Formats: sequence, C-alpha cells, structure tokens
Amino acid sequence: NGTIGLDSLVTWLDAFRTAVTEQRAYLTELDSAIGDADHGANMARGMAAVMEKLETSTPSTADELFKSVGMTLVTSVGGASGPLYGTFFLRMGMTAGAVAEFDGAALAAALRAGLDGIVARGKAEAGDKTMFDALAPALDAFDAALAGGTPIPAAAGVAADAAEAGRDATEPLVARKGRASYLGERSAGHLDPGSASSALLMRTLADVLGS
Ligand code: ADP
Ligand code: MG
Ligand code: MG
Repeated sequence: NGTIGLDSLVTWLDAFRTAVTEQRAYLTELDSAIGDADHGANMARGMAAVMEKLETSTPSTADELFKSVGMTLVTSVGGASGPLYGTFFLRMGMTAGAVAEFDGAALAAALRAGLDGIVARGKAEAGDKTMFDALAPALDAFDAALAGGTPIPAAAGVAADAAEAGRDATEPLVARKGRASYLGERSAGHLDPGSASSALLMRTLADVLGS
C-alpha cells in the first residue's frame, strides 16, 4: 500500500506554499467579506517562512519537520489561523514521532491528531463555519477509504474531494467562531476563508501523493 517519505512531506508543504501564494488574493477576498481581509496574506507569509526555514535546516524525521513547521506558523502568522495551523502541525509532529516515513495509518493518525489540536485550541464544532468543516469530513473520508483498502494516493484524493465539499457547505452557514461570528446572520452567504485554505492543504496532499 506504499509509504510516504520525508521528501514527499516536504514536497507537500512546498505545494501548499505555492497554492496559498497563488490563491492569496482569493483567500483575502473571502476574508474581506466576513473578516479582516488578511487570510491570504497570513497564509502566504506563514508558508513562505516555513519553507525558508526548511531550506536552511532540513529535519530528518517527521516529528522535527512538523515541529519546525508548527513553530514557524505560530511565530510568523498572527490572528486565528497562525495558532490554529501551527497547533495542527505541532500535534502532527508529536504523533508522528521520530520516523522518516509514514504508512497510510500513520499519516491518518497524525492528521487526526492535528485536527484534534485545532479543536482543543479553538473549540470549533461541525457547522461553526471554520476550517474544521473542511478538515473533519476530509479526515473521516480518508480513514474510511483506507479502511476499505483504497491505496493512499486515491484515499487522499477522496479526502480532498470531501474537504472541498465541506468548504462549499460553509457558504450558507452562520459563523459561530472567529471574527466572522461578529457578523451574526450577515456571515451567511459567503465561504469561510479558513475552510478554503484547508481544502488547499488536502488537495495539495492528494496531488503530491499522486492521486
Ligand atoms: P483572523 O481571523 O485572526 O484574521 P485569519 O483570517 O488568518 O485570522 O483566519 C480566519 C480563519 O480561521 C477563519 O476563516 C476560520 O476558518 C478559522 N478560525 C477562526 N476561529 C476558529 C476557531 N475557533 N476554530 C477553528 N477555526 C477557526
Ligand atoms: Mg482574517
Ligand atoms: Mg487578522
């Protein structure tokens, strides 16, 4: 069923950097409707800092890699998304341990721990119109596909599809967490910016794994 080496994980992070950089204006446009118009800038700045740091010191194990990513995001991105994405990667690293490659189950467990970290930090629940609404269905779909014997790349593709569906499903929701919640009913009718960046995170994973 294959394994995923550290080089693939770094390629994923680089692809995510490219995606949030290319879609910076789009992510900011989403955040301008229901937030403070900085989500694109936050993610592009954070991932640029992540890749800059990885170029000077390349970790040899997944725990060091994701710890570096998480610390850099926490320190270089302010607001809600820095600590939330930062916690996601820090928890991924803690769960991964000092390994140089993942199998499907280990990747799924690390991603799940990352999501649990987001929840521990931000207390989001399903339907609150946050990144949780893209990530949770994605990881559920990933688990289900792997459990059904789907190879890792195809399972990642299914997860990315579920993330995008979850992102799209945030549009009618009234936000209950983050800045968008200050708008109350007026937050309905717009996609959540964090769910859009999280869908990119899952889509780039699928692309890098070759789904
Ligand atoms: P800020 O709102 O501080 O400007 P960003 O614009 O970078 O930060 O990120 C906003 C995104 O963060 C939202 O679209 C939402 O997906 C996510 N978010 C905000 N609060 C929470 C929370 N408590 N739990 C999960 N995600 C959250
Ligand atoms: Mg914002
Ligand atoms: Mg902000």
